[in-house]
Amino acid sequence: MGNLLVVGSVAFDSVKTPFGEVSNVLGGSATYFSTSASFFTQVDLIAVVGDDFPNEHLQFLSSRGINLEGLERRPGKTFRWRGEYSYQLNEAQTLETHLNVLETFRPKIPTPFTTPTALFLGNIDPELQLDVLNKVTRPSVVALDTMNFWIDSKRDALWKVLEKIDILIINDGEARALGQDPNLVQVAKTILSRGPKTVIIKRGEYGVLMFHHKGVFGAPAYPLEAVKDPTGAGDTFAGGFMGYLTASGNYSESGLRQAIIFGSVMASFNVEAFSLDRMKRLTREEIDERFRAFKHLTHFDNLS
Ligand code: AMP
Repeated sequence: MGNLLVVGSVAFDSVKTPFGEVSNVLGGSATYFSTSASFFTQVDLIAVVGDDFPNEHLQFLSSRGINLEGLERRPGKTFRWRGEYSYQLNEAQTLETHLNVLETFRPKIPTPFTTPTALFLGNIDPELQLDVLNKVTRPSVVALDTMNFWIDSKRDALWKVLEKIDILIINDGEARALGQDPNLVQVAKTILSRGPKTVIIKRGEYGVLMFHHKGVFGAPAYPLEAVKDPTGAGDTFAGGFMGYLTASGNYSESGLRQAIIFGSVMASFNVEAFSLDRMKRLTREEIDERFRAFKHLTHFDNLS
């Protein structure tokens, strides 16, 4: 089993969907990512929270085996995000972003974290993503996620870090904004020409497309009877994807495809409830069962 290092946000989220509303619940890109990845591999977390962050949340992350040595607690308020989804549930409308302690955060990497097997630069300021990348021995896989907030406000810094990574994991709307083209194939081509060897575009309920020089792979989203809250689906996908990849060490085409399915399986659980509520009671057996159901969903050859 390898060590997966992640940097990203740990947050209080307030979310409204057509199926309910929650305030100041546990969220953040690194929280969803780490929790999801922890089902597959050892996760080392780099993030910051304020002095308002309750022990209960820390205990949950610890209970998942996540190493919190790099989780800094500083005077001030934890990062807060407020978003709303329309009936279609595909894209969040950001209503408020309060960076709070994230605004002055300078990641410190504990020595045991400096030689990771894999690195995930979660949704956070691209300057911080680059800072973390520069502070570790470069692992064989570095993946990155981002969002409109950073594409709009720190485009140049974002391209600078993108040039140094292997896998970009991004949602469709954000990919279009980054590539400045409505066509995802063209967008993927542009991004692939500038550094990353693989681009994974998340398309919400329509699934995922993976582009690289060998071609393209597509996976649907698992069809669910009830989707309550898509918040964190992207990070949970990335956590399953990177967690599986780190544990297997198989970066071949088939290894990447399997990782995509594990990522999709994890995301499918996360959207069944608000915050990390579904992840808190998820078992490895349920993951494996849904992986098999996913295989059946997409299989069409030699059915007997
Ligand atoms: P996802 O739905 O996977 O794209 O990610 C949702 C998570 O991203 C939420 O839990 C938010 O707390 C977090 N988030 C939203 N905006 C930002 C931002 N500008 N920087 C870092 N994290 C953010």
